[in-house]
Amino acid sequence: TTFADLDLNPKVQKAIKEAGYETPTPIQAGAIPPALLGRDVLGIAQTGTGKTASFTLPMITMLARGRARARMPRSLVLCPTRELAAQVAENFDIYAKHVKLTKALLIGGVSFKEQEQAIDKGVDVLIATPGRLLDHFERGKLILNDVKVMVVDEADRMLDMGFIPDIERIFGLVPFTRQTLFFSATMAPEIERITNTFLSNPEKIEV
Ligand code: AMP
Repeated sequence: TTFADLDLNPKVQKAIKEAGYETPTPIQAGAIPPALLGRDVLGIAQTGTGKTASFTLPMITMLARGRARARMPRSLVLCPTRELAAQVAENFDIYAKHVKLTKALLIGGVSFKEQEQAIDKGVDVLIATPGRLLDHFERGKLILNDVKVMVVDEADRMLDMGFIPDIERIFGLVPFTRQTLFFSATMAPEIERITNTFLSNPEKIEV
């Protein structure tokens, strides 16, 4: 598989070429085609396999089909730590460089005010840690009714950190008819239960 074989937005293709990527990694080759078809994806992959691009590239392609700067976020990426969320946001900026899409990074350790201003302006993508996302929701600022794609990254670490109840709550706040892209390095029984409950006929890719 080459990137040209994947049905990604041409502006996304341009950005990944500029980033120096030549061939998709196995998780990218496996996850991107079903994700672009709107399927749910269950990716079993470690950090360093290129999994960030495997959900970010189809997500950007999908968002670029719609109207940019919609009033409400159309995509939500959940990460276990601030550092990981910041990394995903950095990657998003690289891949979405030629596309007019906006994002907000909702993580702890930063004042609510700035993040709320970003939300108020209208963003396409939220990249968040579960606790901070729920804090914003409870402050009444966040409407998740228009989320079309939800990503859960590093679910095994979410489990280790005790975030599974938060994740389950967030699944209840986004529309039932959405696409879910779910990534974990391992499939613990608790992770298996979550995927059985919240993913719909997922394409499973194990690398
Ligand atoms: P990740 O597993 O998402 O943390 O990615 C690991 C590293 O691989 C990151 O620095 C990416 O920029 C890089 N990367 C991801 N996909 C590719 C690719 N197809 N070709 C070259 N580098 C890549």
